[in-house]
Amino acid sequence: MSDTIFGKIIRREIPADIVYENDEVLAFRDLNPQAPVHVLFIPKRPLATLNDAAESDAGLLGRLLLAASAYARQEGFAESGYRTVINCNEHGGQTVFHLHVHLLAGRHMHWPPG
Ligand code: 5GP
Repeated sequence: MSDTIFGKIIRREIPADIVYENDEVLAFRDLNPQAPVHVLFIPKRPLATLNDAAESDAGLLGRLLLAASAYARQEGFAESGYRTVINCNEHGGQTVFHLHVHLLAGRHMHWPPG
């Protein structure tokens, strides 16, 4: 896949407010937060969209979600709740083509989304 702004964040070429990191996952605050807590969990290995994930990526996808839920527990909002979102392509509202999980928390969210 071609490079994105998230690739630059992984390589520390541009700054980001990083809240969690391990060998394969990086998490940082969204520049334009849609909730009091808005953190993006991304794989360091580039995958453009969820459509590009293969069976061999199942573990990675699971660990992205587990990193988000561990962060929610650590920050104390697991019980009150939160939302995780993966936008895919145009109709999904994806704007950065490096797969990411949005973690939103800190306010009551409604369903369905707009
Ligand atoms: P998408 O619309 O692709 O699901 O989400 C992309 C997200 O990345 C948006 O919520 C947007 O605010 C965020 N974003 C875009 N550029 C940057 C950046 O340079 N730094 C950070 N921290 N977030 C960004």
